[in-house]
Amino acid sequence: MFDPLKPRTCQEPVIELPHHDLPEEPGPAEGCDVCNALDRRRTAARQVGDMSKVTDCNVELRRHPHLREKQREKR
Ligand SMILES: [Zn+2]
Repeated sequence: MFDPLKPRTCQEPVIELPHHDLPEEPGPAEGCDVCNALDRRRTAARQVGDMSKVTDCNVELRRHPHLREKQREKR
């Protein structure tokens, strides 16, 4: 019998910990508006459990090109 009020046993894997970034998740590049927007969208998507959108954001973050603009700016 399934009782939703009953605490689960530890047989099932825990799929929370949104604050804990998995190693495969790219972080936003510093000072990049696009990356930071994607990062926020990813966080929001994860909060509503939209994991496919989270993956989309990860792909976009990874793909976003950064041609060392920072180094160029400093020169
Ligand atoms: Zn970027």
